[in-house]
Amino acid sequence: MTVPKVLGINYDARSSFMRGPAAAPDEVRRVLHAGSANYSTELGAQVDPELWDDLGNLELGDAEPLDARDKIVAAVSDAIADSSPLLSIGGDHFVTYPVVAAMSERYDNITIVHVDAHPDLYDELDGDRYSHACPFARIMEANHASRLIQFGIRTITPHQREQADRFGVEVHEVRTWDGVVPALEGPVYISIDVDGLDPAFAPGVSHHEPGGLTMRQVLDIIHSVAEQGVHVVGADVVEINPGRDIHDMTAMVGAKLVRELLGLMQ
Ligand code: MN
Ligand code: MN
Repeated sequence: MTVPKVLGINYDARSSFMRGPAAAPDEVRRVLHAGSANYSTELGAQVDPELWDDLGNLELGDAEPLDARDKIVAAVSDAIADSSPLLSIGGDHFVTYPVVAAMSERYDNITIVHVDAHPDLYDELDGDRYSHACPFARIMEANHASRLIQFGIRTITPHQREQADRFGVEVHEVRTWDGVVPALEGPVYISIDVDGLDPAFAPGVSHHEPGGLTMRQVLDIIHSVAEQGVHVVGADVVEINPGRDIHDMTAMVGAKLVRELLGLMQ
């Protein structure tokens, strides 16, 4: 059995609207270990703490984006050097760019399964090419992934539609999604921006975008990846903003996502 690793990435300096997700890793861990839930996954796996390796946090403060990128790449490269799968807890969505960059040094032809209200394909936002609204533009233009499949999308702009066409992104807008996850081939990386869920299920995010996915639909996406039996090399849970949370609802969403994702990576 594989022992997945978990890394907290405390970095939200690329957020365009509101800071806060840097505090998420410890809040998700607190709720995960609080005792209100057990360590069984819905698919029957056990993810008790001794069955995965918590690497602690990468604290990046207000680091400049290229400095933050290089430190995340170094930490992730080190974590996956023994081929362990890695689950990172963000942080804002910027972190996915360096995490996948490091993954692409080790794995060819990565497919990304991405849940988000936003396509995050801006070439730049407010002059920042490393904004949390840009990671998938940076990933696709550098060929760090060969396929990007998006779910939960409900804020696409004409510019981002052009970018999606340019990079061949498979965008499943909530409005028209048929509930099906297309056939995948490994290696697969799963990136979950918690604002992909409807704010009713996950109020603790910086960008409340109504009309989103239910938690059940997000779990169905994860379980569909599991049922396809592909090699999941990494995953992230990003954009939880504890300062906006209500009764730990969103931290618990994060904790449950962590459990189900760890179950996939064993
Ligand atoms: Mn995002
Ligand atoms: Mn988002």
